[in-house]
Amino acid sequence: MASHLYAQIVAGIDDTSRTFIETPTGRRISYADLFAEAGRFANTLRDLGVEVGDRVAVQVEKSPEVILLLLGCLRAGAIFLPLNTAYTPAELAYFMEDAEPALFVCDPKARDALAALATERGCKAVETLDSAGAGTLREKASAASPDFADAERGPDDLAAILYTSGTTGRSKGAMLSHENLASNARTLREYWRFTKDDVLLHALPTFHTHGLFTATNTILAAGATMLFLPKFDPDEILRLMPRATAMMGVPTFYVRLLQHPGLTREATAHMRLFVSGSAPLLAETHTAFSERTGHAILERYGMTETNMNTSNPYEGDRLPGTVGFPLPEVDLRVVDPETGAALAQGEIGMIEVRGPNVFKGYWRNPEKTAAEFREDGFFVTGDLGKVDDRGYVHIVGRGKDLVITGGYNVYPKEVETEIDLLPGVVESAVFGVAHPDFGEGVTAAVVTRPGSEVSEPAIQAALADRLARYKQPKRVIFLPELPRNTMGKVQKNVLRERYADLYAAG
Ligand code: AMP
Repeated sequence: MASHLYAQIVAGIDDTSRTFIETPTGRRISYADLFAEAGRFANTLRDLGVEVGDRVAVQVEKSPEVILLLLGCLRAGAIFLPLNTAYTPAELAYFMEDAEPALFVCDPKARDALAALATERGCKAVETLDSAGAGTLREKASAASPDFADAERGPDDLAAILYTSGTTGRSKGAMLSHENLASNARTLREYWRFTKDDVLLHALPTFHTHGLFTATNTILAAGATMLFLPKFDPDEILRLMPRATAMMGVPTFYVRLLQHPGLTREATAHMRLFVSGSAPLLAETHTAFSERTGHAILERYGMTETNMNTSNPYEGDRLPGTVGFPLPEVDLRVVDPETGAALAQGEIGMIEVRGPNVFKGYWRNPEKTAAEFREDGFFVTGDLGKVDDRGYVHIVGRGKDLVITGGYNVYPKEVETEIDLLPGVVESAVFGVAHPDFGEGVTAAVVTRPGSEVSEPAIQAALADRLARYKQPKRVIFLPELPRNTMGKVQKNVLRERYADLYAAG
């Protein structure tokens, strides 16, 4: 009997005494421990009534138990369904109705408030795990046998459902198969040269694809080690860096490390790789990081639905402001968003991808699935971009962030890049809001350096001979920081809502 993804992980580990996870509190989980624990969790799932194909919804703080439970789900043939810890009970009710999990795992503190919500929607059991990995589920697993006969699961069977962040409309459950995850883990291990000697600094949340799959699965595929931190803390990262070889992070990790005086060439001397993704890394951050440390951050591009699609090269130029080349086995094309016709190299359009990494569709949502897949199997990512003459992919923003003003398309990134070059500017976000004359007005939110005297007219004047008139922001708003979600993505929907009446008000 074999569970496709789990069987591959086990087959790849030749020395089970090696460390899989180590925590700052000194806890160490070897690969042998991991396999035994996955068996205990799988037995516990069965005892709680979780059958093959059932969903296990998990809304808990990060702890190694999340990963042990994930592997338990794989062995038991259950579908792992992580939920952002920020979701409110009202949001949870939607996920429960949509996913109909057999088991809900939550924080012990939330159990009283949430148990009825889950059981009223058909959940058979509600168990707990806290930020130290303790709770009723852990207790049950500790008492269970490590021996478990794995459920038979093939490459196309579902391993996980991850709900998209859903900044417009309801979030949708992306169905990821065992082979979606396994193929991407194998690819990233090879592309980024991970071996069993690697030690990864893991400070990402475990409810999102980046920390849960990109980081963890690559480590599992290599039989390597993770230093598992509860959250990103620059002091802690720099303390552990001399023991690590790699880090995967969101752009804000790098911005915050650059603010730390401890980030030096010496402090990073033991590291071989810094990876960034989930949101655009400013070229300025890339440059500042390489000047300070000598390391060129490797930027890559992926999404919940597709795992990783493109990456800057391990050897060769890691170009700031680009996301590199399509990964092996991933087909990528840029098309006209309206007609779907392929565009010439260098033209901006919709990015579409196809490959073993691309998900199986949206859970119980065949209409949305049909709308976002082309007949030849390409998935419409919703990201706008282009491929340059060297083959590097550039992302210019989400399709829904495109500003249409006076009938012209304005790609926010082009305007942001010009604003970011101005002295005194830290970063900017360009978005569109309703405008009585133009349909939408190009609007810029700008963060400036403390003490700099950048004004709205000064920015507008500086852009006057750099951008076509229709691309120039009609208004510039100054903010102490841009609104961001936990993965560091700028929330343009928040800006659009906040300034919806900017032009209406005169
Ligand atoms: P998520 O599903 O939360 O991982 O979000 C995926 C989206 O994040 C993509 O569709 C892109 O819009 C964005 N994204 C991820 N990586 C990058 C990157 N390196 N540069 C720009 N945008 C990115």
